[in-house]
Amino acid sequence: MVVRPAVFIDRDGTLTEEVGYVNHPRRLRLLPRSAEAIRRLNAAGIAAVVATNQAGLARGYFSEEVMHAVNDELVCQLKAGGAHIDGLYVCTHHPTAGDPPYRADCDCRKPRPGLLTRAARELGLDLAASTTIGDKASDLDAGRAAGTRGVLVLTGYGLGEWEYRRPSFRVPPDHVAEDLLAAVDWILRQRAAA
Ligand SMILES: [Mg+2]
Ligand SMILES: [Zn+2]
Repeated sequence: MVVRPAVFIDRDGTLTEEVGYVNHPRRLRLLPRSAEAIRRLNAAGIAAVVATNQAGLARGYFSEEVMHAVNDELVCQLKAGGAHIDGLYVCTHHPTAGDPPYRADCDCRKPRPGLLTRAARELGLDLAASTTIGDKASDLDAGRAAGTRGVLVLTGYGLGEWEYRRPSFRVPPDHVAEDLLAAVDWILRQRAAA
């Protein structure tokens, strides 16, 4: 298997609007420049992998069926924008909410790196050459634990995280970007310069 670099992308607040629990496909809205961002990764031959915590399952807010419908909608909206993702990895767990198997002290709920390491194994990704993009410190912590760089976007929770919670960041982001497209452009510029 050819090993290639990836960009791991958080879903809610990074790729799509942060609207709270997405318990219906109609609540899912791509952020304005997301399809363009994924298109640029596709063109550059960089794997675009979505990694998302969906504790709403453990909390009983929606079923796995609904979650799949929402993720299908995501793939659909991206496709309409000429973009495709190479993988979509979901943590369906919560350490204290709900019942097993959803109530679990898993290794994949971000800030833990399990979604990323699993994707790397299954898709043949070079973690050291990869970047994680998210709107929360926990996204970047997961990325860091997996050995990737981290970019914080200011969409979703990002602006609040950066303005008010910066002192609590365990490791500062490698870069802070206005949105996903700006984050991807930074990654592409870094590669061009290397
Ligand atoms: Mg998020
Ligand atoms: Zn999990």
